Parts: sequence; structure tokens; C-alpha cells
Amino acid sequence: MTVVVLLGAPGAGKGTQAGILAERFGIPHVATGDLFRSAVRDGSPVGLEARRYMERGQLVPDDITIRMLLDRLEQPDAKDGVILDGFPRNRAQAEALDAALAERGVSVDRAASIEVPTDELVRRLSGRWVCRDAGHVYNEHTNPPRLVGVCDIDGSPLIQRDDDTAETIRARLTLQLASLEDVVDHYASAGVLKTVDGVHSIDEVTDALVRAIGRARDGQEVV
Ligand SMILES: [Zn+2]
Repeated sequence: MTVVVLLGAPGAGKGTQAGILAERFGIPHVATGDLFRSAVRDGSPVGLEARRYMERGQLVPDDITIRMLLDRLEQPDAKDGVILDGFPRNRAQAEALDAALAERGVSVDRAASIEVPTDELVRRLSGRWVCRDAGHVYNEHTNPPRLVGVCDIDGSPLIQRDDDTAETIRARLTLQLASLEDVVDHYASAGVLKTVDGVHSIDEVTDALVRAIGRARDGQEVV
């Protein structure tokens, strides 16, 4: 079994790449958000526990998240491995995950970090506009409207939410990047980290990730 952790800041393209890589390697893409939703939907004991926190608007504790992840690893489609996306988010979670995997005789084989400079992340994330009347979502970089400032679908004006302005995004990112850095350091110390330059086309980033992860899967030197 190959356990791959995919790391990257919001806006680095992590979710997109995780989906492509899962298909390429034939192993599931396990995103923490999906994991919560399916555990709750299936009504598993750990899912019910998670739901109690989610209903109160609280964060699901790490030990519950890790139990969900371990259950997911037991599923038949994960027998060759998984690509984890969205966990761990900080050093404590990374250490807890290591300990839980070790009990099952497995470990994180490769952590691949998609690196994008902060200014570029802010640029990518602050391009979001929504239409005033129906909330249709646009991105000035990746999904622009045909006419600047006007919704293609209903013609209502496009507005930018306070949450999506460059200053708000930069402040939020600064906090997230500090934790991410700790996780990256953790896997660097474990000797399983590979960094990939995320300022390229989706295909180029995929190719770099396939090279980085493929070596771990072939059992070759992991440095
Ligand atoms: Zn609209």
C-alpha cells in the first residue's frame, strides 16, 4: 500500500491534481471533507460521532478524523494505497497520523508539496466574483464572464464578497501557510518530501507530481 499525502495552500491546485493523480495511479483520492460527508451519510459509529461536532459548528477532533481515515484505508478500493488531501493540516495531526498508521504497519510513503508563491496564491484566490441576483460564480482568471462585471446567465452585476478581497485572503493565507510549513517540515525530516513547482500548467504540474510520487511507488530511493 502506498500512502501519499498531497500538500499545498488554498489556490495551489491541490484538489484538481489529487483527482487527476488518483485516476493516473488507480488509487482513491481521499479528501477530508468527502470523508466526513460519507461517514455521516453511511451512519457509521465514527460518522455519528463526527456529526455531533459538525451539528454544533465545531471542528471534528483529530482522533475522530484519523479513525475515519483508517476506516477508509480498509476499503477494498484502497488496497494499493490512497492520496490524502486536506489532512494533516498541522504538525500535531501529522504526528498523530504517523502513529496511527504505524500501528497498522504502514507509513506515509511520499508527501508531495505543490509550491506556489503567496502573491500568486492571492492573485488566484482573489479573482472570484459572484452575481448579485443568483450567486453564479466566476473567476476572472479561470472562468471569466463574457462581459466584464456582468453575469452571463442573468445579466445581473457581479460583486466581490468581503471574504474574497485580496486583503482578507492574504490575512487568512498567512495563518494557513504557517501550519502548512510545519507539515512540510515534518515530512522533510521524515525524508519523504518532494516539492513541485505549482506555477505551471495543470498538465506540467501533474507530470512533475507523477515523477515525484511514482518513484516512491516503485520502491526506489525516497529522497
Ligand atoms: Zn447570475
